[in-house]
Amino acid sequence: MTVRPVIKTVKGMPTSDGAGVRLTRLLGTPEAQMFDPFLMLDHFDSADSDDYIAGFPDHPHRGFETVTYMLEGRMKHEDNTGRTGIIETGGIQWMRAGRGIVHSELPLQTEGRMRGFQLWVNLPARLKMSAPGYQEFDAEKIPVEERDGGVKLKVITGKTSRDTKGPVEDAAISPLYFDVVLPAGQVLSEPMDLDLSVMIAVYEGAVKIGDVAVPALGAAFLGLGDEARIEATEHARFLLLAGRPIREPVAKYGPFVMNTQQELVQAFEDFQAGRF
Ligand code: MN
Repeated sequence: MTVRPVIKTVKGMPTSDGAGVRLTRLLGTPEAQMFDPFLMLDHFDSADSDDYIAGFPDHPHRGFETVTYMLEGRMKHEDNTGRTGIIETGGIQWMRAGRGIVHSELPLQTEGRMRGFQLWVNLPARLKMSAPGYQEFDAEKIPVEERDGGVKLKVITGKTSRDTKGPVEDAAISPLYFDVVLPAGQVLSEPMDLDLSVMIAVYEGAVKIGDVAVPALGAAFLGLGDEARIEATEHARFLLLAGRPIREPVAKYGPFVMNTQQELVQAFEDFQAGRF
């Protein structure tokens, strides 16, 4: 087996989005613009409601998928098809925006900690104008694989080498989305298909990949190999994300991610004309 080396690490960038939600952006920054097929990864974590209370009022998306994972807190979701839903602690919402959706994502709490991630996953050209859709699962529907030494993998999508399978199905890029607990000194060794883009986003503690240290609120992008090997230098929690690269041209602007400039212009026109 060839262990995947680190090709790049980044520190999360403090930013804000929506109506003023404070975030740490780990992907989708000037330093790490995208990691095919992943477009953006935001981490939100605050016990101060001023940091999240304004939420994300009505806004559009076209051409990709948005994935919201709540570690702690409650978020209400509503869209222009009349659909509503609540994402609670430990739950996931995997939304395919496809040809277009207008939605809001608003906190259902006025105090307490709100903590989680939003990931944007690109879609191949053939699916960019597909119908919008959702996969939503509460915490109890998401399996946790327990290994020796207190190592835990919560499997949101994809399958581990020990056959724990997550509930989200996404044939477009066959992603893996694992939320990992790795006690100090433990090593996660996981075979990975060679053709996947693999990244790690640390949100507690610190890990080491080869000789490269990755502290909390940092991300590591891995190179080629057929094994991911991560060691906790202190009790760590991190996301392990992997997906098959789409390898198509990307034209993106704000909430629209298409293949060409022309398609972006079309997206603006369609949105403004109320065709979403
Ligand atoms: Mn959104």
